[in-house]
Amino acid sequence: MGNISKNFSSWEFVPPEIDESNRPNEWYISEFQVKIAQFIRDRFGKPVYINTYKLSDPKKLGLVFTQSGTRLCSSNIGSLLSQHGFKSGVDLKIIGINYEEIRQDIRDNFKLYHDATGLTTIEKDTETWLHCDNRNTTENKLFEVAYK
Ligand SMILES: [Zn+2]
Repeated sequence: MGNISKNFSSWEFVPPEIDESNRPNEWYISEFQVKIAQFIRDRFGKPVYINTYKLSDPKKLGLVFTQSGTRLCSSNIGSLLSQHGFKSGVDLKIIGINYEEIRQDIRDNFKLYHDATGLTTIEKDTETWLHCDNRNTTENKLFEVAYK
């Protein structure tokens, strides 16, 4: 049970600096980030991980994740103008899934995903996570960007 949606808690979408501040995490999370995480959780029926630093086993996925949701402008993870810095990007992890199968499902059902969540963009070819964001694009179709 989460505190921000059925399966997610707000800290999963923000880095520790925000979670440990005296400001509400919600100020730094977009509706899109929560909607796409919950949509994929429901569609594939498997636990979806974003940040893991407060899990009872933070290294459940091998690494401790702190930068998979919103990032501080000062974060040196990813690119300077990453959508993560604009509370748009999320990197979703699902144990035992082929991320290319999820990307293909998104390509095949883009309107469904877009209408339900606002998704516009994914990264291509990532093997250990699925990047989603809702940057404003001028095209009415899925935008796929290279990782880095
Ligand atoms: Zn990302």
